Amino acid sequence: MIKTKSVAIQCPQCGSTDFEVPDNVQDDDIATCHFCGLEMPLHELREVGLEQAKDVVIPEAKKAIEEALKNIFKRK
Ligand SMILES: [Zn+2]
Repeated sequence: MIKTKSVAIQCPQCGSTDFEVPDNVQDDDIATCHFCGLEMPLHELREVGLEQAKDVVIPEAKKAIEEALKNIFKRK
């Protein structure tokens, strides 16, 4: 089993992060979800991953900013 080396991308269909990709992957290659068998071109899978990363990163950044603001007010 070969896994994508980048950040875990969730299968849009089943949420699994287990993808099978060929050696020396190219953007046109097909990644296959190991769990549900969904086949998706790698460049599309990467787009999905970027969208998922945005969803994760922004709430975390927001939380960090809120924490920082809280600390500022504590010091006053
Ligand atoms: Zn799947």
